[in-house]
Amino acid sequence: MAHDFFCIADNPHDYHSCFMDGLKKRNPGQPEFHQAVEEVSRTLLPFIFDNKKYLEHKVLERMVEPDRVISFRVCWEDDNGDIRVNRGFRVQFNNTIGPYKGGLRFHPSVNESILKFLGFEQIFKNSLTSLPIGGGKGGSNFNPRGKSDREVMRFCQAFMTELYRHVGPDTDVPAGDIGVGAREISYMFGQYKRIVNQFNGVLTGKGLEFGGSKIRTEATGYGLIYFAENVMNHKGDSVEGKRCLVSGAGNVAQYAAEKLIQKGAKVLTMSDSNGTIYFKDGMTVDQLAAVQQLKAQRKRLSELDDESMSYHAGTKPWDIEADLAFPCATQNEIDLENAEVLFKNGCIGVFEGANMPCKNDAIDYLHDNGVIFGPAKAANAGGVAISALEMSQNSLRMSWTREDVDEKLRSIMRDIHATCVTYGEQNGHINYLAGANIGGFVKVADAMIAYGTA
Ligand code: NDP
Repeated sequence: MAHDFFCIADNPHDYHSCFMDGLKKRNPGQPEFHQAVEEVSRTLLPFIFDNKKYLEHKVLERMVEPDRVISFRVCWEDDNGDIRVNRGFRVQFNNTIGPYKGGLRFHPSVNESILKFLGFEQIFKNSLTSLPIGGGKGGSNFNPRGKSDREVMRFCQAFMTELYRHVGPDTDVPAGDIGVGAREISYMFGQYKRIVNQFNGVLTGKGLEFGGSKIRTEATGYGLIYFAENVMNHKGDSVEGKRCLVSGAGNVAQYAAEKLIQKGAKVLTMSDSNGTIYFKDGMTVDQLAAVQQLKAQRKRLSELDDESMSYHAGTKPWDIEADLAFPCATQNEIDLENAEVLFKNGCIGVFEGANMPCKNDAIDYLHDNGVIFGPAKAANAGGVAISALEMSQNSLRMSWTREDVDEKLRSIMRDIHATCVTYGEQNGHINYLAGANIGGFVKVADAMIAYGTA
């Protein structure tokens, strides 16, 4: 069996086995990274075999090896004066078509495997936006939950005290992700500015007062629904009137729910890691505002005081009958069993707001049963797209209007959908996963070949 990436096979299937075997041996104990590469490589290899230049140049083998992985100590003091030590990371995966770009995640589960899966996905997602951004991801196993504002501030400052030397507006431009919102970005930006004595667009998701873009906060959730609407329109349908399951109650989930309500869909659920809230008649704008207020106060959904909804502790939304599902919480939240229940309950489309929320066997099941599957790298690319536009506005020292940015977001999501259709058409059906993987791959791969081997 091959231990490295030297595979010889005359068909994609055998090549894939050898390739994955080599990848697992080179990256032991990284199941999330294996899963992300598996999802991409099995749809890409038939295309690569039809376009042998990518095989000859070993582009996929080169792409799965990050440019570098930086790991560092983050030492800070809690409110009791005790010294706390966390681990920080930045995975600079691929800067072929632009500076590394991807969020920072603060969550106790963060490790190298999770950040490599996210960074790898980001290469394809960023390429799909058609904007000049490479792929990266970072974060820490720090848990912001239950920490005071001042503890979060001290952690963010300590984190940036190391990270600053690895990032820069033309090098690597991080953004937010799980556990990193406006508060954390502001603390980190303040610290960066203090250390380097420069005001530049090193982070995106900044406050509007200091270089942030309008619509950035809403962009991932809104973009997800614009993408879903494009898919439904392509089938001669729309999201209007559809009963929708949304998981998560954070940044992506809140604005996906808002846009669904605006489009006349019924949002039946939201969730957090403790349970699900269920609005049997669909959530109203006021109820969504109540959820947003609760979350701004960093409270749990179980604390929502509303008699027209029910709270189900310890459950996920997927058992409820609905037409469309929007997983917007975290990776691997839809397994095969969840996919089976969704299909049996009449679900016709699953659109990933979170990164890799569906396991690979769940994706296979959805495809096999004709359920539309909108993969994260296409469906949730709106956030990073507007981050790239924040970078442009920072470079120009200009600020575009809300209407301008929203129109650009709609147009980018339309173009991503069109790219998926171009590359994903298979016997009259659109395989959005193949379309997104191939569409995201081609631009990066061609540029890598043009640069020569290094
Ligand atoms: P937030 O931190 O704002 O919200 C995350 C939500 O998911 C919370 O409701 C949280 O609940 C829930 N959640 C987190 N971990 C788990 C878990 N292990 N099990 C169950 N629920 C969980 O993050 P975002 O909304 O920014 O990110 C959500 C997803 O979207 C992630 O996969 C992220 O990578 C992806 N994404 C985000 C983008 C962005 O612009 N923010 C861009 C593209 C993708 P609790 O509070 O209980 O932890």
